[in-house]
Amino acid sequence: MSSALDSSAFKSPVFLFGLTTGIALSAVVQYVLSYVATPQTQKSSLSVPVPAIVPPQTISVPLAAHIETITRLEKDFTINTSMMQKIVKQFVNEMRKGLLSDGQTLKMIPSYVCNRPRGDEVGSVLALDLGGSNFRVCEVILEGQKTRLRQKKFVISDALKNASGTDLFDFFAECVSKFVEEHALDLNVKRKLGFTFSFPIEQTAINKGTLMHWNKGFTSPGVVDKDVVELLADAFARKGLHNIEIAALVNDTVGTLMSHAYLDSQTHVGVILGTGTNAAYFEPMDKIPKWRGGPVPSNEMVVNTEWGAFDNEQIVLPVTKFDRRLDRASPNPQSQIFEKMISGMYLGEIVRQIILDLIGTGELFRGQSSENLQTPYHFETAYMSRIERDHTTELSDTKAVLEDILNIPSTTESDRRLVKRICELVGIRSARLSAAGVAAVVTKINRFDGCTIAIDGSLFAHYPHYANRMRDALREVLGLTAENIVLEQARDGSGQGAALIAATASY
Ligand code: ADP
Ligand code: MG
Repeated sequence: MSSALDSSAFKSPVFLFGLTTGIALSAVVQYVLSYVATPQTQKSSLSVPVPAIVPPQTISVPLAAHIETITRLEKDFTINTSMMQKIVKQFVNEMRKGLLSDGQTLKMIPSYVCNRPRGDEVGSVLALDLGGSNFRVCEVILEGQKTRLRQKKFVISDALKNASGTDLFDFFAECVSKFVEEHALDLNVKRKLGFTFSFPIEQTAINKGTLMHWNKGFTSPGVVDKDVVELLADAFARKGLHNIEIAALVNDTVGTLMSHAYLDSQTHVGVILGTGTNAAYFEPMDKIPKWRGGPVPSNEMVVNTEWGAFDNEQIVLPVTKFDRRLDRASPNPQSQIFEKMISGMYLGEIVRQIILDLIGTGELFRGQSSENLQTPYHFETAYMSRIERDHTTELSDTKAVLEDILNIPSTTESDRRLVKRICELVGIRSARLSAAGVAAVVTKINRFDGCTIAIDGSLFAHYPHYANRMRDALREVLGLTAENIVLEQARDGSGQGAALIAATASY
């Protein structure tokens, strides 16, 4: 649990385009280094050429012993430019279909959020943020294009994800109660609250919506088809929390978009790259033919794409046997296919599936495994970040992850280089697919002349090279116009955005 006073959340760095050349150069240097470092006995096999398919941003090259394995994996995991273009085209088609009628692959949910923030909003608002891994309670103090934030973070246990709906919502009320106590908030004063609930919601008003289905590992019974605002209000009443008006029910993508639009009016898209992945954007009302909600106060509305479900039919996404294994064993098979190839919850598990396969064929760790490695989801996405960041000559940090954390009895340097390459392939594929989603949204709204994409989530924030890999992919599919698309980190955007929407819900 942590509590923080943070006023810097909106001073996010703007990432710059173009590190490809440096990274490609480092690939060459590393290849030469691995050649020099290879023992004499292996030198004959070094005449094996560098694999024909070299994906963009090749960072490390494994020792010769694993060249064949790596060539095979590169074939499966590389998404080249023409595949990206096909994905973008299909994405735009799916978006149009989702805006036309209900029940499509991309749900394209109208959010009831119509007003861009004016930037002069002030006051203290509460916000709750249920992402997938954590639940956060925040007090957001709006000070006109500036915000201050007090927050407390609570971890959601696996048991709670599967507990009854009453237990889950009682937990939320308990967290709010603790926060109110800790910060001595006066509940004699009526307060507005924005509820960020990042699951597919059939929204019927700005503060009303029923859960369509769970994802990201949640199965809690008694919530699907119920209004989650009502469930929260009931839990507040049971806990004796009065005077809190739940003024807005918001998806985290919508919150991220709005909180960033508060300070940068060029922000048209909000993206989440955390436990799951999703995006929201401003769509003109006349491009949402399925809208039946009556007149709205503006000619545009934020649409929550629920893009994690893109291509569940697997028409254009190059799913591998590893993705299929992960999907089959998941609580929601054949759904969220795009999300399962991209987001933090799944990347480590894909790597684990590949490693297990290579142990089975004797291509890794001389066939040795460990109990930890055999345990589903035990290989965390954060380990991939650590491995990708390991630039020691013998990959000693990778050795620590594999031998000390995962308990693999012994690894060779060549094993470690192969594992690092696997992480790169899975990490690069994730970044390129999320870039394809961004390219599709920008294409749909025709904002090639200038568009800021606000991105929240720990994957984007912490995974090395992620932003640059996205930018490289955007440049491949959009050419020079990609230079007008700015990817900005929007930390804590989802909570702050919910507060902002709650504050502005009445105009
Ligand atoms: P939420 O999705 O609940 O809002 P976050 O945005 O913090 O939460 O995302 C949590 C996810 O981010 C986890 O699933 C985890 O896999 C991933 N993650 C956490 N730390 C790292 C890291 N250092 N590198 C890559 N991914 C990470
Ligand atoms: Mg989040």
